[in-house]
Parts: sequence; C-alpha cells; structure tokens
Amino acid sequence: MAGEPGSTNALKRRGLLFVLSSPSGAGKTTISRMLLSDPEIKLSVSVTTRAPRPGEVDGIHYHFVTDEEFDRCVEEDDFYEWAHVFGHRYGTPKGRIRAGLKEGQDFLFDIDWQGTQQLYQKDQQDVVRVFILPPSIEELRRRLESRQTDSPAVIEARMERARAEISHWDAYDYVIINDDVDACFGKVREILHAERRKRQRQTGLIPFVRELMGS
Ligand code: 5GP
Repeated sequence: MAGEPGSTNALKRRGLLFVLSSPSGAGKTTISRMLLSDPEIKLSVSVTTRAPRPGEVDGIHYHFVTDEEFDRCVEEDDFYEWAHVFGHRYGTPKGRIRAGLKEGQDFLFDIDWQGTQQLYQKDQQDVVRVFILPPSIEELRRRLESRQTDSPAVIEARMERARAEISHWDAYDYVIINDDVDACFGKVREILHAERRKRQRQTGLIPFVRELMGS
C-alpha cells in the first residue's frame, strides 16, 4: 500500500547534482569511476567543441559538436553552465538532467571551480559540492610526473593551474584530502549517502508521515 514503511513511495526522493572538483592529479578520475559503480548516480555527459581523443565515444565521454551547434545551444539556453577551458568550450546540457532529478537519478559532475560556481548559481537546492585536495604539493607533482606523458614545461603549466584550482577550495561544501584512494572514496560515498537522506530530498516522506500520523 502506498506510504507503507519500505514501500517505494515512502523511499521516493529527488536526485542531486554531485560535483567533484580537484586539481588534476589529485585522484578525482579514480574516485569518479568508483562512485559510478552505484547505479543511482550517472555521469553528466558534457557538450564540447573539442575534437574526440582516440578511444573517446560520442555520447559517452562527451557530446562532440561544432562551434555553430554550440552557439545554437547557448542561444536556446540549453546549458546549466558553460565555460572556455584550454581553448575549447564545454557545457552542461539541462534537459535530461531536469527529468532525471525528478525520478531520483543523481548526476556526477567532473567540472572545475568556474563550472561549479555557475551550476550552483542556477540550482542551489540540488547541488552538492565536493573538493578533493592532494596530501601535499610535492605528492601532486610526483603524481603528474609519474604519468610520463607530459614534458617538464607541460607539468609546470599543470602545477600552476593546480595551484589556481586549489585557491577555490573554500567555495565547496565538503573538502577531502586524498592521501589514500580507498579511504577518500569511502568519505565521498558517505557524503553522497547522507545527502540523499536530507529531509527536503525525500519527497516520499510527506504522504508517508501523514499516514503515520493518521491524518
Ligand atoms: P578534457 O578536454 O581534458 O576532457 O577536459 C578539460 C577540462 O574541461 C577539465 O578540467 C574538465 O573539468 C572541464 N570540463 C569538462 N566538461 C565541462 C563542462 O561541462 N563545464 C565546465 N565548466 N568544464 C568542463
């Protein structure tokens, strides 16, 4: 019966927009991948004007579009937020997300501090902001160097960008130091689970509690 303890109606909830930001090298990609093993959270797929890299699939990693198509989306107000990053444009499409939130679907966002700020301005109620810090600047450098894909000049540029990203740590709701990836993931998951249980997100509670009180 609707509203009974444990029934799907009592457990019905609104989804949330879970933002993970960090300087590159702090472990965000690994943590994101671990979080996505939970079927209630999906990665928000951004729209970008940059070309696909080898192995990237349209619709899975990004929606790859032309400059003209991106312009049209901006004109039609199709984005929650968009930004210029490394000479290309990236945006978060609204439509699918709005529908998903109502159904209790959570969305994971791997976006920088600017994107986070814009998203939060558009939708303060649904956004949960988490920032991941490296345990030290030396460790961050070591992690960037161990990838062995970048020249020293590129590593310096990434370190500079990392410092700039870290300077925005205080615009987040939660901050976690990633000194152990499993422990860090555990903390991020605790935050996600607690946020899901926030009273205002549990939309099934009103009819359920009414019934509990016999009114
Ligand atoms: P990449 O081209 O390496 O996949 O991503 C470059 C940067 O763009 C990353 O820092 C990533 O966080 C950022 N980015 C990806 N999608 C979006 C988006 O929809 N909005 C914003 N503001 N940044 C994004």
